[in-house]
This record gives sequence, structure tokens and C-alpha cells, in this order.
Amino acid sequence: MDSKKFLLQERDIPTAWYNIIPDMPNKPRPYLNPATKQPLNAEDFFPLFSEEASRQELNTTDSWIEIPEEVRDMYKIWRPTPLVRARGLEKLLDTPAHIYFKNESVSPVGSHKLNSAIPQAYYCKKQGVTNITTETGAGQWGAALSLAAKAFGLELAVYMVKISYNQKPYRRSIMQTYGAEVIASPSMSTKAGRKIITEHPNYQGSLGTAISEAVELAMSTPNCKYALGSVLNHVSLHQTVIGLEAEKQMEMAGEYPDVIIGCFGGGSNFSGISFPFLRHNFEGKTNTRFIAAEPESCPKLTKGVFQYDFGDEAGYTPLIPMLTLGHNFAPANIHAGGLRYHGAGAVVSQLREDNLVEAVDIPQLESFAAATLFARGEGIIPAPESAHAIAAAIREAKKCKEEGKGKVILFNLSGHGLIDMASYDRYFAGDLANYTVPDDEIANNTASLEHII
Ligand SMILES: *Cc1c(COP(=O)(O)O)cnc(C)c1O
Repeated sequence: MDSKKFLLQERDIPTAWYNIIPDMPNKPRPYLNPATKQPLNAEDFFPLFSEEASRQELNTTDSWIEIPEEVRDMYKIWRPTPLVRARGLEKLLDTPAHIYFKNESVSPVGSHKLNSAIPQAYYCKKQGVTNITTETGAGQWGAALSLAAKAFGLELAVYMVKISYNQKPYRRSIMQTYGAEVIASPSMSTKAGRKIITEHPNYQGSLGTAISEAVELAMSTPNCKYALGSVLNHVSLHQTVIGLEAEKQMEMAGEYPDVIIGCFGGGSNFSGISFPFLRHNFEGKTNTRFIAAEPESCPKLTKGVFQYDFGDEAGYTPLIPMLTLGHNFAPANIHAGGLRYHGAGAVVSQLREDNLVEAVDIPQLESFAAATLFARGEGIIPAPESAHAIAAAIREAKKCKEEGKGKVILFNLSGHGLIDMASYDRYFAGDLANYTVPDDEIANNTASLEHII
């Protein structure tokens, strides 16, 4: 293992996030009020999110948004994160490609999620909010927001997808360690939860349902806001610290990426590594390829429809223009919990529609094979989510070998997998399988969407 690290100083932590929307050739379509079908403005989001997050969400004019000093101070706990030339993996693959990864697994909670949890909690605190709610799939976002809430003195309630609550008890313990209250979703504590439990008593939960529960609690509790860990523009905005740092580090390495890859749940880490580089494509300076790697069992980018849909199961959110499998899509019990979301954020959906980014779907077994190879080459055990990006990077590196041509590949290591070893155990025991979503299931799930696009 002779991998090479490129390290920045604290002073190199970006002072502004990059907002891609002003630079997009086609802007994303607006969010719509489900009742009136009229576009929403920032004030419409104030009951739900902090005012600053709401304004960032709908900001289509400022390319750079200042990072508050208090947030940068918290970022200093673990940022800047290393960029690593994965020489160990390159050797195992015997590829002429140069493979780099940005290591977001070094955050205290083990993933990139803290990059957005901190500003979201900070903006709530700043406007005098006392309580926040959220949902979590595998527990990564819940863990990040638990830490951030505690840092700014907020009380947090987390609805955790039931299957993860049971399969991943340690993430629940982490949230509890930071002082959050964790509830398995669906639960009897909300109308949305009670409805789905009554109709499907054995339902193991989904992110869509957990979001409904968290939104319902926030809307019915005074001085309480809701925070989302992916999908939305302001979340992707916060994650651009990843790509902005990586830009400087690639410069230190003396190379520029030909291909940039991120795994894809709702889009935040993919956006975070990609958007700062994508702006150079927009300027006509570069011709970098961007690949979002999603699980074969939850293929919204490769098989979803581009349509207005709800962000949650119960239909509490605004209508979002998204590549979607339908808001009541129930993903198979795959082990990359963080990728089990039915839709893609509005910005990435538009970029995909305009063919400015690519997408691949990765079978579960390929993702674990890639994770294992990466661990043996680089020493880091990746999160099952991140393993999808690694698998896509390995596909590209193998292509380079076949073509006898080197390329520079950069992927985002969104998190480590040390709390996901139960999933690895099942992989080694041969208990995991691939799962393709039948086309008619997708057609059925999306048939009821109103066709506005
Ligand atoms: C949540 C999560 C993801 C997926 O979410 P995105 O918003 O698409 O980035 C990927 N990797 C890890 C480690 C996660 O925790």
C-alpha cells in the first residue's frame, strides 16, 4: 500500500459554497404547490426549513454563497479531507488509469453528511429554533445531524427507517450518544405512520415514509423545523466543499480528472464532488465526464421517469421536478440503505435530462466485490453506498486497461463501512443477491403521477 495523500491546510477550507444553478444551461423547473400547481418562493418554505436554508434552496442568482465563520470553525474538526491517489487499487487492477479518491469518511460520523448537517443546524439556531426533526435511512444523516444539533444546543427527533433501525443498531446508538431521540419508522406517533402501519403491518419502512413522519412532527410542533440530508439544492450546495477542496488537491497532484464519479442516493455527495468541476465544462474549458452510480435495485436515474413528484410517501412536500420511481416506491431490502430513495434532486435530474451527467446502475454483488477489492488495496473499508462509486470507478479503470490508455479517474469516498460490517458478513456468507426492478413495477408506480412535464 503506497498510496499518496494530498493534504490541504485549515486556511484552504473554502470560504464560500458553489451554487451551480446560475451557471446551468437550463435551470431546474420550479417547485410547485401541489394544490394550486403554482411555483413556490422561499417564504413558502419558511414553516418547514430555516429561513436561510429556504433562501438558499431557491437562490438562482448567486454563484457563491458565503460559509458562516461558525460553520467553518466546525468544519475544522475534520476538514480539509485528504485526496488520495489509490495506487494500491491501481496495482490490484493492473490498470494504466490514475485513480484518485476524496476521503469524506474521515468525518467524526464517518460520512460526508456532516458537511450539510452543520450549516442546517446553525441556521436553525441562529433564528431561535429550539427543536428539529429529520429522517434517516442507514443512520448516516441522523448521526450527522445528532452531532450538529448537540453542537448548537438543539433538541433532535430522528425517524429511522425500520429495517435499518433493526439491522443497524449501532447507528441508533451513535445518535443516542449525541443525545438525539430515535424512533423506528413507520411509527404510531404520526398520522402518516399510523396509516401505513394499519394498511401494511409488516412494512419495513422507506425514506419516503420517514420523511412524511418527520415533516408532520415539525409542522405540528411550535418552534420546530425539519432538516433533510439529501435531494434538495441547499444540501448539494453545502456539499460543494468536497469538490472545491478536491480541485485544489488535483492541482497539487498535477493532474485534472477525465472522469468524476459519486454514488447516488438523492444526489448530495455526487453533486458535492461534481458541481465545482462541472462549472469548467460549462465554461468550455474542460470535457470531464460525470458518472452517478446508483444501485440496480433503486434505479431512478437510469430507469425513472422525469416528472413532478412528491419527495415523501404521504405527499406532504411540494412537487419536485425529478427523475423518479414514484413516491411510494418500496425498494428491495438492499444493504446500501443510504441509496434507497425514490427520486433524484431537481438539479441533477435536469443535468441528466440535458445529458450533462451520466448514470450507471450497479448490481449489489458487484458493489461488495468492489468494496472488498478497495479495502485490500487501500486499507479503508468503504460504506456499502460508497462501494457503488468504487464499482463504477473500477469499470472505468478496466476499460482503460482494455483500451491500453490511461485516464485520470476521481471518485468520492462518501463514507466508511465500519458500522456496516453486518452487511459485509452477509456478503461473505453468500446471503446477498442482485435485484433488478421489473419495468412494469416502475410503470405501475409512476402511472399515477400527474403528467405536467
Ligand atoms: C447518505 C449517504 C449516501 C447517499 O446520499 P447522497 O445524498 O446521494 O450523497 C452515500 N454515501 C453515504 C456514506 C451516505 O451516508
